[in-house]
Amino acid sequence: MKAGRCTATTKAGKPCSAQARPGKRVCLWHDAEAAEERRKNAAKGGQARSNLARLKRSLPTEPLAFTDVQGVLGAVLRDLLAGKLDPPVANAAANVARAFAAIAQAGEMEDRIRELETRAGLREPA
Ligand SMILES: [Zn+2]
Repeated sequence: MKAGRCTATTKAGKPCSAQARPGKRVCLWHDAEAAEERRKNAAKGGQARSNLARLKRSLPTEPLAFTDVQGVLGAVLRDLLAGKLDPPVANAAANVARAFAAIAQAGEMEDRIRELETRAGLREPA
């Protein structure tokens, strides 16, 4: 039997739009025999959320210095490799860190250019 749409009705009274389970006419949420599987999925989701909450708690509330970002990235990598962190969360952290590094680098370049311009007499010393 090819899996089609779930034949159950939602709480709102509309036809369920979820994919029926293989060999069944209903989806995971409407399958009376899948209570244990639903409970496991909910537990997995809860665990991922608590991992994220734990990571958030471990972050300082003050703006981070670049060395702090390196430390956080180390923790992210450690948790990712230990299977304690969802890859999408680690990806997002890496993207933010990249942006952070780019801004830090741009600021440093600006400082160096200012110093060179000052030394070249093109700018009044601060
Ligand atoms: Zn359904």
